[in-house]
Amino acid sequence: NENRVKGKTALITGASSGIGRSCAIALAKLGMNIIIVARRNDLLLDLKKIIEQEYLVKVLALQLDVRNDNEVKEKLSKLPVEWKDIDILINNAGLASGLDKLYNNSSEDISTVIDTNIKGLLYVTNALLPHMIERDIPATIINMGSVAGDAAYAGGAVYCASKAAVKILSDGLRIDLVDTKIKVTDIKPGLVETNFSMVRFKGDKERAKKVYQGIKALTPDDIAETVAYIANLPTNVHIAEITLLCNNQA
Ligand code: NDP
Repeated sequence: NENRVKGKTALITGASSGIGRSCAIALAKLGMNIIIVARRNDLLLDLKKIIEQEYLVKVLALQLDVRNDNEVKEKLSKLPVEWKDIDILINNAGLASGLDKLYNNSSEDISTVIDTNIKGLLYVTNALLPHMIERDIPATIINMGSVAGDAAYAGGAVYCASKAAVKILSDGLRIDLVDTKIKVTDIKPGLVETNFSMVRFKGDKERAKKVYQGIKALTPDDIAETVAYIANLPTNVHIAEITLLCNNQA
């Protein structure tokens, strides 16, 4: 298989764990230099060390809360010159907070989900897009949607709505960028075994474990393999949307 991304740069949000972390490793394996973004800097620095030693590419760890528009603008507009040219942007940072009937959700949980999954994605994209467009060379934006954006489930209304928004924002952005060389892909995984359930259930290990009982969930590496495939496609091939299910899902 031809390697079209070696030496290019990817920026991945939510790279401190789970799917984002696996994406960073998969793209580094292809020889990409990676900007890894998340709030937990210690995890980012550990990952930077692992990737740089193993794959001999460069990694920039960027501690950032994607919900904070000013911080996003400030840090992404001040990237060191050798990191300014982003070829692959992976908007992956996201979470669910609480799992309850819509009318039982706290305002704090609602804000956490909407601000991270929707506004965070928009802030990061808008901070980077002007320069991506100006460069006028092929680039790809991969947004982490979910099958949750296609159908609501019990207690998941806010999270599902946020992922439905990711789908429509991806469609809208694709239209807005139709005269550029930038592609937009919405990737929609089914159940993936990560720290996601622990975050959603606020550290309740028993509830988190139950989510995966009796199901052979996807792994973060499964998702990363598809992300690497999308990143490495020829420039004329544009995957708008892709759904990845585990065996027990239909
Ligand atoms: P994890 O909890 O393992 O990873 C979530 C990542 O998002 C972490 O790196 C976390 O880093 C980061 N993040 C959360 N909030 C912020 C913030 N405000 N600013 C910056 N980074 C943030 O879960 P997953 O890997 O499963 O989740 C990754 C994406 O995949 C999410 O968008 C999720 O909705 C989506 N997804 C997950 C599925 C699953 O079954 N697990 C299925 C379908 C989609 P930190 O806490 O250090 O900031």
